[in-house]
Amino acid sequence: MARYTGPVCRLCRRSGEKLFIKGGRCYTPKCAVDKRSKPPGQAASQRRRLSDRGLQLRAKQKVRWNYGILERQFHRIFTQAARQAGVTGDTLLVLLERRLDSAVFRLGFADSRAQARQLVRHGHITVNGRKTDIPSYLVKEGDTIGWRPQSTRSSYYQQALAAIEGKIVPNWLSLNKETLAGQVLTLPTPEEIGGVKFDTKSVVEYYSR
Ligand code: SF4
Repeated sequence: MARYTGPVCRLCRRSGEKLFIKGGRCYTPKCAVDKRSKPPGQAASQRRRLSDRGLQLRAKQKVRWNYGILERQFHRIFTQAARQAGVTGDTLLVLLERRLDSAVFRLGFADSRAQARQLVRHGHITVNGRKTDIPSYLVKEGDTIGWRPQSTRSSYYQQALAAIEGKIVPNWLSLNKETLAGQVLTLPTPEEIGGVKFDTKSVVEYYSR
């Protein structure tokens, strides 16, 4: 399945709430959800109520869109979560949060997960001092996340450095705001995952059929 290349604001309008996919713009009056609360599509107002299955699909898509992951990869992560002990929905969120692109976003190096993924893919990010350009890499307790020395000379690094002061880093990560060096203190718990709230029970039900 190809990556979704349409307007991402449509995904928020389809979900009926802000998914904060675009970063800075999401906090401005330009946000499409704030401007138009109706779902996209001409006949949106005439649509029927969603079935249980439809609601489960919507809940699953909401998580997937938020993390910007393709269906096949998302299903793989779900299968991995289902194999582990514990509550599958919680494990799913923790696995998603542990992705390197997500950790880079949480550290405040990028305004959105899409931007964080690009930073990783372009080889700007190191894990334990080694260049790591795989966005799906799962960070572990004790990992250090930083910038390649060459990348610290880029204008992007300078912008990130200038903007870092106002950023709030979750408890499971630590950040040196002078060098933009981060560390994974502990693995995140579902309670520590802030931002958009997800109905993970419906996601589990969706894949359980
Ligand atoms: Fe677009 Fe962000 Fe608003 Fe979503 S929250 S509609 S991505 S601007």
